Amino acid sequence: MRNRRRAQQRVAYIVSCEHGGNDIPTPYAPLFRGRARLLASHRGYDPGALLTARDLARALHATLVVATVSRLLVELNRSPGRQFRCSPIMRDAPPDVRDDVCRRHYLPYRDKVEAFVARAIASGARVVHVSSHSFTPLLDGIVRHGDVGLLYDPARIRERELCVRWQRALAALRPDWIVRRNYPYLGKSDGFTSYLRKRYDAASYLGVELEVNQKHVRGGDVPAGERASIVAALRQALAPQARVNRASGARRKTRASATMRASPPARRSGASYRCESRD
Ligand SMILES: [Zn+2]
Repeated sequence: MRNRRRAQQRVAYIVSCEHGGNDIPTPYAPLFRGRARLLASHRGYDPGALLTARDLARALHATLVVATVSRLLVELNRSPGRQFRCSPIMRDAPPDVRDDVCRRHYLPYRDKVEAFVARAIASGARVVHVSSHSFTPLLDGIVRHGDVGLLYDPARIRERELCVRWQRALAALRPDWIVRRNYPYLGKSDGFTSYLRKRYDAASYLGVELEVNQKHVRGGDVPAGERASIVAALRQALAPQARVNRASGARRKTRASATMRASPPARRSGASYRCESRD
């Protein structure tokens, strides 16, 4: 009975992108004067992550929450209390400015994701959350050997199994790529997925961070063919859990309910935030 109930459990998909751009809203522009180069670097945002997130959301019929303000303004992928630590500018900004940034950017973004997850789980669904990022190929003089990283908590079996399947499927589609797990960061260190894991058990919430090496970025984005491989591999990896094949959705009404749909992803885009992961 229990197994049957589990097999029938709906899956609600959410794709987020915390570091999708390097915008600095006008009120804070004076703080960033002379910082154009820093803003344009990997410390300012995750090049390529935004479009990858959009593709993932479209393929999964997922709710999409993105931000295009720079992580140097506020780090959306850090837990409360840590959102200004990575920024040499905001670390020393006046408290009222930081409060304002939190109210306008940090809280609305975090609330949007948290509200979706809370609502889905309360309705009996299991949440699969993919957070889209990219990483710099060279950090502190060290070359990172990997094309794609999948970050998760190794103690969570479902997350691990999903990432093993995603890794295998992607390696099969792109034999020339190095696809690694929990590289270049550990999935369990502070991030939005880690924060949500503390609130929901492993059966209710799966959080995975996708990290794409920025050496793949051309003209600001990961090329379409490469994004398509990443998306196709995830769909293959998810197949044992829930069918997300859009083409089959209309024919299989029962399975259509396996995907929680909200508003079309593009219209659910968050305000404008942005940042990078952990480097
Ligand atoms: Zn990032």
